[in-house]
Amino acid sequence: MEFVRLMLGDDAARIFEELYKSEGEVNDEDIARKLGLKLNEVRKQLYFLSEQGLVSYRRTRGRNGEWYTYYWRVDKNRLLGIIKTRKQITLMKLKERLNFEESHTFYLCLNCNIRFTFEEALENAFKCPRCGSSLEYFDNREIVEFLREKIAELEKKLKES
Ligand SMILES: [Zn+2]
Repeated sequence: MEFVRLMLGDDAARIFEELYKSEGEVNDEDIARKLGLKLNEVRKQLYFLSEQGLVSYRRTRGRNGEWYTYYWRVDKNRLLGIIKTRKQITLMKLKERLNFEESHTFYLCLNCNIRFTFEEALENAFKCPRCGSSLEYFDNREIVEFLREKIAELEKKLKES
């Protein structure tokens, strides 16, 4: 649920988690009681979550006919869809990065720990533009290897999902 936290904040993430844990529908009053949050706040967050398509609700009129009761549930299919899309975006970024690593030669300033492409190093006559030290050839094989592993891992996960 880490991405819900990043996207929507702590309270929304707690509410979402609570909802996710419970199978089926949950009344918002129960959620508020359980988490010790104000009902208004819980509802506000739930509407927000529903705008993101993460939860959905059903409304019923209470016995006295005046008040509505809201029952909420996590939209698991939609959630899986969102997670899949995020993985695909990550995969695309990793591939772009791999392509960049494979198609460039790099030089490093050991002093500043800044990396330059061959073109950038050439422009600066193989001296660091910040501190003036000579730039050293940088072997990026480990980075390339790491990226390839990550990509393979993610592709496997996507295929399984
Ligand atoms: Zn430097």
